[in-house]
Amino acid sequence: MHDVVQIGYGPVSQVLALMLARQGHRVAVVERWSEPYTLPRAVCIDHEAARMLRAIGVGDGLARVSQPAPLYQWFNAQWEELLCLDWSADSVSGGPEVNFVHQPSLEAEFRAVVREQPGVELNLGWELAGFTDRGDHVEVRLQQFAGTETRTLRTRYLVGVDGANSTVRGRLGIGREDAGFQADWLVVDMKLNPGVTLDIPDCGQYCNPERPTTMVPGGVQDGRVCRRWEFMRLPGETRDALQDEAHVWKLLGKWVRPDQAELVRHTIYTFRSLVAETWRKGRVLIAGDAAHTMPPFMGQGMCAGIRDAWNLSWKLDRILRGQAGDELLDSYTAERKPHVNGVIDAAVYLGRIICIADPAEAAERDRAFKAGTAAPFPPFPHLTAGLVAQGTPMAGLLSPHGTVRWRGREGRWDDVVGLGFCVVLRDADPATVLRPDQLRALKGLGAHVVGISAAPQGDMVGDMVVDADGKYLSFLTAHGAAGMVTRPDFYVFGGASEAQGLAGLVDELTQALGDHGVRLPMVAEHAAA
Ligand SMILES: Cc1cc2nc3c(=O)[nH]c(=O)nc-3n(C[C@H](O)[C@H](O)[C@H](O)COP(=O)(O)OP(=O)(O)OC[C@H]3O[C@@H](n4cnc5c(N)ncnc54)[C@H](O)[C@@H]3O)c2cc1C
Repeated sequence: MHDVVQIGYGPVSQVLALMLARQGHRVAVVERWSEPYTLPRAVCIDHEAARMLRAIGVGDGLARVSQPAPLYQWFNAQWEELLCLDWSADSVSGGPEVNFVHQPSLEAEFRAVVREQPGVELNLGWELAGFTDRGDHVEVRLQQFAGTETRTLRTRYLVGVDGANSTVRGRLGIGREDAGFQADWLVVDMKLNPGVTLDIPDCGQYCNPERPTTMVPGGVQDGRVCRRWEFMRLPGETRDALQDEAHVWKLLGKWVRPDQAELVRHTIYTFRSLVAETWRKGRVLIAGDAAHTMPPFMGQGMCAGIRDAWNLSWKLDRILRGQAGDELLDSYTAERKPHVNGVIDAAVYLGRIICIADPAEAAERDRAFKAGTAAPFPPFPHLTAGLVAQGTPMAGLLSPHGTVRWRGREGRWDDVVGLGFCVVLRDADPATVLRPDQLRALKGLGAHVVGISAAPQGDMVGDMVVDADGKYLSFLTAHGAAGMVTRPDFYVFGGASEAQGLAGLVDELTQALGDHGVRLPMVAEHAAA
């Protein structure tokens, strides 16, 4: 019996397999293609996804194939700036808001680490033929993609990470909600010749109604700098005419010459915004593009999928260990779907700025931006539902990731204190305000229970984490909080205005996880079984 079977082996499935395997679970992956897909799609990884990737041991791999983002600038036809997103700024998670990445190289890094996991069984060259939810497990039927053999797997949970045309979603009969955005864009990937630098915006959207154009970094492949251009299909223009190779070079002509770079690929994508109605039915779940697709103007499709995997992996971990009930999975759709809808709102907002082919409409847009009357850019979403202590300070916000000193070590919180639930109190040991039964329950959850202070103070009880760059104390101060409880996916479960309020938060958390006789983690025992 597997703990989790995953259909599809794209980037979201790769990170989900890693997340689950590193927690000691037995995973089987099923992918119809025997060889990896080698062409890039995603080029951006945001700070939150980068923190997750570091947490699962692929931070060095990410660094090898990515570059920190420059400013993300939006220009009108006259090259006047309409909008600027500072993707180079220091983010809440530490490091830049965004990194640009070469997706196939990143996936190769993921797959190399997955191969080191004894708990992951790869079924490459197999596809899903059907599945039946038997109540206490799922029976998954596979067939060879280029052959006639069949195979049946039994698993406690099945996850469809099988892309936008998800068979799993289709077989569950789950429909998709359409935010109403649709546009065809020609996507062109180039690898610059060694030593070539181009006189173009580092990262920009040229909102020229004559030909809306994107030009962004494309990460690094084998030490060579990659670049991405995207050109909107104009009204009346045929797909064939747009993607004819001679025409592609004509479109590129303003920006790059054939002697400066190699054309890696060019193809037309239809950008749409579609979200599955629900992301779970019984023991079967969907994640990544199977659950949502969005226009790429925010660079968020894969990042959203990595968030799905991270959200799902810690919940499945709790359930598979018997530390939470199956109903914890109800919070998956409740948390992820509104978050993705918020990201889609931002992507569609950006899409509506650039996808204008009518000069009068473009002039109206430019006037609105100049006059400051354009609709404001939607804020990036946080968690608004699910497993959060509603009404408490910071509930649902992404927690900061700063540099700390603790027990003789200095570094990022995740490396020095660790991953998982954290109970953090300003200038005091949380043990001073929590009951013994609560401390036992937190130990069972593997939670880190620590005080944090600006500097060690002689009269304090317990060993304080020192907030070396001040990120934690300024976060607590900004929200009028004395302490907080954070979740394994870095979101704040809840905050307490007074130290004594932590006890109520811990009760709320343990009740929300369900009374399942919280036990000590049993990774070794579980992995050996
Ligand atoms: C032009 C463009 C630009 C983008 N830019 C960004 C960006 O900058 N940042 C970002 O975060 N995202 C971006 N995205 C989105 C990102 O590429 C996708 O969200 C991401 O690749 C989806 O990953 P996935 O693992 O969910 O699905 P996929 O990569 O589609 O993987 C699904 C896998 O499932 C397999 N499969 C399907 N059905 C079956 C079956 N029945 N049996 C077995 N196997 C099956 C498929 O063969 C495939 O390998 C962009 C997308 C496009 C098109």
